[in-house]
Amino acid sequence: MNIPQQKVPRVVIVGCGFGGLQLAKSLKNAPVQVVLIDKNNYHTFQPLLYQVATAGLEADSIAYPIRKIFKGQTNFHFRWGEVQQIVADKNLLRTTVGDLPYDYLIIATGTTTNYFGNTAIEQHAMPMKSVTEALNLRSMILQNFEQALLSDNIKEQEALMTFAVVGGGPTGVELAGALCELKKHVLPNDYPELDFRKMRVLLIESGPEVLQAMSAPNQQKARTYLEELGCEVWLNTKVAGYDGSIVNFQDGKSLHTKNLLWAAGIKGVTIPGLNADALNNRGRYVIDEYCRVKRYENIYALGDVAAMSSEKFPNGHPQVAPVAIQMAELVARNIQKLLKQQTPDKFEYFDKGAMATVGRNRAVVEAFNIRFGGFAGWFVWMALHLMLLVGFRNKIVVFINWLWNYINYDRNIRLIIRPYQKA
Ligand SMILES: Cc1cc2nc3c(=O)[nH]c(=O)nc-3n(C[C@H](O)[C@H](O)[C@H](O)COP(=O)(O)OP(=O)(O)OC[C@H]3O[C@@H](n4cnc5c(N)ncnc54)[C@H](O)[C@@H]3O)c2cc1C
Repeated sequence: MNIPQQKVPRVVIVGCGFGGLQLAKSLKNAPVQVVLIDKNNYHTFQPLLYQVATAGLEADSIAYPIRKIFKGQTNFHFRWGEVQQIVADKNLLRTTVGDLPYDYLIIATGTTTNYFGNTAIEQHAMPMKSVTEALNLRSMILQNFEQALLSDNIKEQEALMTFAVVGGGPTGVELAGALCELKKHVLPNDYPELDFRKMRVLLIESGPEVLQAMSAPNQQKARTYLEELGCEVWLNTKVAGYDGSIVNFQDGKSLHTKNLLWAAGIKGVTIPGLNADALNNRGRYVIDEYCRVKRYENIYALGDVAAMSSEKFPNGHPQVAPVAIQMAELVARNIQKLLKQQTPDKFEYFDKGAMATVGRNRAVVEAFNIRFGGFAGWFVWMALHLMLLVGFRNKIVVFINWLWNYINYDRNIRLIIRPYQKA
C-alpha cells in the first residue's frame, strides 16, 4: 500500500463515518501512525440524506472529501479501498487495494439497510443509507411523476403518485414530512396537469407509535404534525411483501404503490475473519466497556457496528452519531494511555437527547429532560445540524439552500440523474 513503516505503532481505522472521523482527529497529536481506509473518498453526513432524496440539498453539501478534512495532520494516511478480510493472527487486513498490517485495528464500518431476509422487498424497495441511494431515490420520485403524466390509466397513475415510507423512526418521519412538503409546495408547480389529490404519502410503522425512542407526548406530537401535513400514519402495520407494485401487509391489507421507501431496519457492516462469537445476533460486534471486540486484545469496534451491553442498554447503545463520536474519543484516549502503560478508561455514554423534524417549522426535541417542539424545536434542529456539518463551505451552502427553500417554498435540485448507460 506504499505507507512508510515507522517506529511508532500503526493504528488502522476502517470507516470514516462519525466514529472513524473523530478517532483519527483525536489521535492527531498521539505518538502513532494513523491509517484510515474507506470505500468512499468522502465522509457522509447521514442525518441530511433525506433532504438530498427530496431535492432539498445537493449531495455535495452533505459529503466532504476525507483528504481535505485531514490536510495538515502529519501522522495521517488515507487509502481509498474496501476492507475484505481480517487476518487477526497476523495482525493484517486484506483489502481491495492490497494488504495492510496493523498494531491496533478499529472497526467503524457502520450499518447497512436490513430487509430481515425478505428478498422480494430487498429487490423492489428503495433504501436510503448512502449518498448514491439518496440520489437514486430523488431520481425515482421525479421519474415516477414523469411517468404518471404519460399514463392514461387512473390506477397506474395513483400507484405512481403513492409513496409508502416504511419505518416510523426519525428517518421515516423526516422523509415522510419532506415528501408531504413536496406535495404541498413544489410538485404541483412542476406538474400542473396532474391531480395532486391523488398523491398519497403514507408512513407505515409496525409498532404502536412513531419515534419509539422518544417520550409519549413527543411521539403523539410528531404524529399530529405528520397528519396535519396530509400524511397517513398506519400504526401496528407490518409489511409482509412487495412485488414492485403491491405491498402486502401481515393483517391481509394491501396497497398499490410504485414507491416503497424502506427505513425500517439496519444491520452492522461486518468484515469476515473474526471468531463467530465476536458478533451478536443483530450483526454488531460484541465489545467490552473499553470498546475491545470480544476475545481480541488489539481489535476495537465502535459506533453503529458495535454493541456494548450495559445496565441501561442491554442490547447495545442507540445507533446514533453521538455514541460513535464518544466511543471514538474514548478509544483515542485509551490507546494513548496504553502506550504509557496507564489504566484505560471505561465507556460511559453522555446522552444529549434526541430530535426529529417534520416538514417546515416543526420538530420534536428532547434534551437534558427538557421537551419541546414546534418552531423552537425546528430552529434548534437546524442550528445543531448546521453546527455538526463538516466543512465551512457545506455549512454556508446548506444554510443558503434552507433560506432559499424557506422563502420561496421551493426545492431547486429537481434533477433526474441516473447512471449513464451506453446505448
Ligand atoms: C438517513 C439517516 C438519518 C440519520 N439521522 C440521524 C440523526 O438525526 N442524529 C443522529 O445522531 N444519528 C442519525 N443517524 C445515524 C448516524 O448517521 C449513525 O449513527 C452514524 O453515522 C454512525 O457512525 P459510524 O461511524 O458508526 O458509521 P457510519 O457513519 O455509517 O460510517 C461507516 C463508514 O464505513 C465505511 N465502510 C463500511 N464498510 C467498509 C469496508 N468494508 N471498507 C472500507 N470502508 C467501509 C463507509 O463507507 C462509511 O464511511 C442517521 C442515519 C441515517 C441513515
